[in-house]
Amino acid sequence: MDFEYSPEQEAFRKEFRGWLAANLPPDLCLDDASDDRVASDRETFERRRAWQKTMHAAGWVGVTWPKEYGGRGAGLMERVIWEEEYQAARAPVLPGNMALNLVGPTIIAWGSDEQKRRFIPPILPGDEVWAQGFSEPNAGSDLANLQTRAVDRGDHFVVNGQKVWTSGAQYAHWILLLVRTDPDAPKHRGISALLVDLKTKGITVRPLVLATGHHHFNEVFFEDVIVPKANLLGPLNQGWKVSTTTLMHERHSAGGRSHTAQIARLISLAKRVDRGGRPAWDDPVMRQRLVQLAIDAEALKYTRLRSLTRQFRGEPPGPEGSILKVSGSELGVRIGDVAGELLGMHAIVNEGSAMVPDAPRWFNRLVAARQYTISAGTSEIQRNIIGERVLGLPKD
Ligand SMILES: Cc1cc2nc3c(=O)[nH]c(=O)nc-3n(C[C@H](O)[C@H](O)[C@H](O)COP(=O)(O)OP(=O)(O)OC[C@H]3O[C@@H](n4cnc5c(N)ncnc54)[C@H](O)[C@@H]3O)c2cc1C
Repeated sequence: MDFEYSPEQEAFRKEFRGWLAANLPPDLCLDDASDDRVASDRETFERRRAWQKTMHAAGWVGVTWPKEYGGRGAGLMERVIWEEEYQAARAPVLPGNMALNLVGPTIIAWGSDEQKRRFIPPILPGDEVWAQGFSEPNAGSDLANLQTRAVDRGDHFVVNGQKVWTSGAQYAHWILLLVRTDPDAPKHRGISALLVDLKTKGITVRPLVLATGHHHFNEVFFEDVIVPKANLLGPLNQGWKVSTTTLMHERHSAGGRSHTAQIARLISLAKRVDRGGRPAWDDPVMRQRLVQLAIDAEALKYTRLRSLTRQFRGEPPGPEGSILKVSGSELGVRIGDVAGELLGMHAIVNEGSAMVPDAPRWFNRLVAARQYTISAGTSEIQRNIIGERVLGLPKD
């Protein structure tokens, strides 16, 4: 493993860091007190969309997208540097994230020339924002069980059914929808993927609010929704393969978050919070727990690097993806739990106080951290993958 960056990579980092410092409006930066990967209101959403447009005009959106689709055609290392700098600048998650990371690459892989011409150009500048319509009330981990039905009516489909946990659908213009087109086929073989305009008559988006109070995702209902045949993505009844492309990109972008800054803040909190008349940091048991978090974060960093090395060598994705997902999301939960232990009742008050000025940060950590153990494949599912494909354990 080579830890050095090449002069070109260093130059790329410097250029992006400098551009962010000069152009990122400070009031758009995340204060880390909330967990708003999806904007909390339309005004914030529109301001973030304008920010995406500014970034795009300067060539900083879709750095690894192929040049023919408007990207920079840069390599994986540039993407890693881009993410490190973007996160360090505390810049907001781009509203077009779902399209940039999941839907766009899926359309590039499976779309007809006509579909690529129509749908790809508006993605990079954020002119069209997408949602991912996969999960249903009885189809999450077992996604192939999905029941939303699309009936072939010649030149169009008629869609009826319901999706759930649809992140950002309250703002999205389009949705990549998985539907059942052949109810008689084995369940993986009767699914198709559709590109659906969310303004179409018969679609209702209803909010689902997280325990933090944040409106992150939605239920989306489809009642006799007409979708032109031209919007079928990939071959009819081959939607499972299309969705595999999307999920592969989703797993690649999940679990990559660094927890180092959070742990540093937690340690400084432990130095301030009183425990029996002394700072909590003086308690060797508490110190041990905090140090263990730091060790876990460091181990995670090297697992991430191992995963990157594998990608650089052009090797197929290894077990690191699932290991990263489980350990990264569960480390987030442990950080929240230690914050809860340090702050006691203060941890459940979503408001700063004289004793804990940054209480909202810890409230959100504590309450929101568990969602990452569910999205993009739950911890149990990741453990199944590790058990079966890495350790070779029997299925039953
Ligand atoms: C923050 C967030 C954002 C999301 N955004 C989107 C989105 O934009 N679009 C979208 O389509 N979906 C989205 N999802 C949904 C997500 O993909 C599902 O929640 C996830 O796949 C789990 O499915 P489920 O919720 O139906 O749980 P289930 O699959 O019903 O699982 C329930 C429990 O059973 C366990 N379990 C299930 N099967 C097994 C098994 N075989 N072995 C062991 N344990 C098992 C699970 O681990 C879990 O603990 C989002 C979820 C979250 C939390």
